[in-house]
Amino acid sequence: MPTRIASCSCGSLTAQVTGDPVRVSICHCLACQRRTGSVFGEQARFAREGVTISGASTRYVRVGDEGSRITFHFCPNCGATVYYEPEGLEAFVAIPVGAFADPHFPSPQVSVYEDRMHAWVVPPAEAQHIP
Ligand SMILES: [Zn+2]
Ligand SMILES: [Zn+2]
Repeated sequence: MPTRIASCSCGSLTAQVTGDPVRVSICHCLACQRRTGSVFGEQARFAREGVTISGASTRYVRVGDEGSRITFHFCPNCGATVYYEPEGLEAFVAIPVGAFADPHFPSPQVSVYEDRMHAWVVPPAEAQHIP
């Protein structure tokens, strides 16, 4: 099984994952734009038993449109988010794909909040598209 390491910018907070992600998605919502500083977020969901976290993190809880809570864990030194935990999905850990710094990471199968998508963005045609 593949092993990958996600890291913050300074390297003090990491997540090692074994096995492939169960879901890879991009999200164009405004909260993900603010969180990432980019125009969409991309995240991979992994089974929790395959994820090993190392290093200290600070938490931020975002309450979504439907009242669901997501707990983001970011490096207290450099501020980069390395993993997060959506409420109701306790068997999984979500990791921002950019934290892997791997251009060969599997591409997203799902594109959500496309009604907030910047006009120039072109999600993969074969992905599931959700407005
Ligand atoms: Zn860091
Ligand atoms: Zn989002």
